[in-house]
Amino acid sequence: MKEKCIYCSKDKAEEEFSKREHVIPQCFGKFTPGNLLLYKSVCDECNQFFGNNIELYLGRDTIEGVVRYIHGIKPRENPKKHKRLKFKIPCGELKGMIVIPRYSGVQGENDIDPVLQAGFFNKQTQEYDYFEPNDIPHAKELTSKGYEIKDKKIPLIAKDDNEMQSLLRVFSDKGMNIKPEEDLEWPEEVKKRNQTLVEGIIKIDSVVYRGICKIAFNYLACIVGKKFALREEFDGIRKFIRFGEGDSKEYFGVNEPPILDIDRKLQSQNIKVTNGHLIILGWKGTSLISRVSIFNLKTYLVKFCNNFNGVLIPIKSGHHFDVDSKEVSKLIAVNRRLLP
Ligand SMILES: [Zn+2]
Repeated sequence: MKEKCIYCSKDKAEEEFSKREHVIPQCFGKFTPGNLLLYKSVCDECNQFFGNNIELYLGRDTIEGVVRYIHGIKPRENPKKHKRLKFKIPCGELKGMIVIPRYSGVQGENDIDPVLQAGFFNKQTQEYDYFEPNDIPHAKELTSKGYEIKDKKIPLIAKDDNEMQSLLRVFSDKGMNIKPEEDLEWPEEVKKRNQTLVEGIIKIDSVVYRGICKIAFNYLACIVGKKFALREEFDGIRKFIRFGEGDSKEYFGVNEPPILDIDRKLQSQNIKVTNGHLIILGWKGTSLISRVSIFNLKTYLVKFCNNFNGVLIPIKSGHHFDVDSKEVSKLIAVNRRLLP
């Protein structure tokens, strides 16, 4: 018996569909029982590809990937560097300092580590801005942008001597002659746990878009069925997810309002009723769309197709993944504005 893969569209032997596909990647929690799973829908080759590429980045380089530490979800390994994310301390004496959040093993907390960096005092904002070695501008540029490079202390944050030496080399390359006056230690107050006060600067790119689209497409296949997901109207998004083909703007949108009606009402007070994952699916005219929110942080829009040619069968579905109890439950459309 042959099966068709919902991503590469290839007909393959049943044995080549040996793995179950989790609608929500396991890096965002293991949900039991009643987890949403796909069987004989994603071939092993595609499954492997997604695991090694898309999902790896979803876990490592997204704000959602970092927030999972706080929920006690351990990453396979602590990332050495975030390619798409930069976290900064948002207030206090060390405001602006660049850090990497770490899994701490304690529920509700995460550790942070410093990165190699130097701070420059900006006369206009009267604040320090921190730069990683590759981002340190030339002395002339710093001066022209209002940074004080002569009379103000330049904090150099380095783990060890080697790092410090490499940082000093960058300074001399950029036309500055700086000598470290004292050994700058990573301050104790920052080292201690429960430092969740970091804000992320996020650069989402195609890999992340594809990862979110895949969650939505998995959900579509899970709720409406594999046969429906294989319709030609979805060939565009299928190729975008699997091969990165096409324009992400056609399929993906950011900065959507919260999924739950109650969260929208409470939005101005910064209150949310859940920190679990939310996903909904439904029609908007002849477009089939989904909204996805991981940890109920940001809401993403996924557009499966613009003009559906077939009969518009009723599709309206929503699920909540509780990251604490690990339960998966159906969202009940108590509000008619579930899909505005
Ligand atoms: Zn495949």
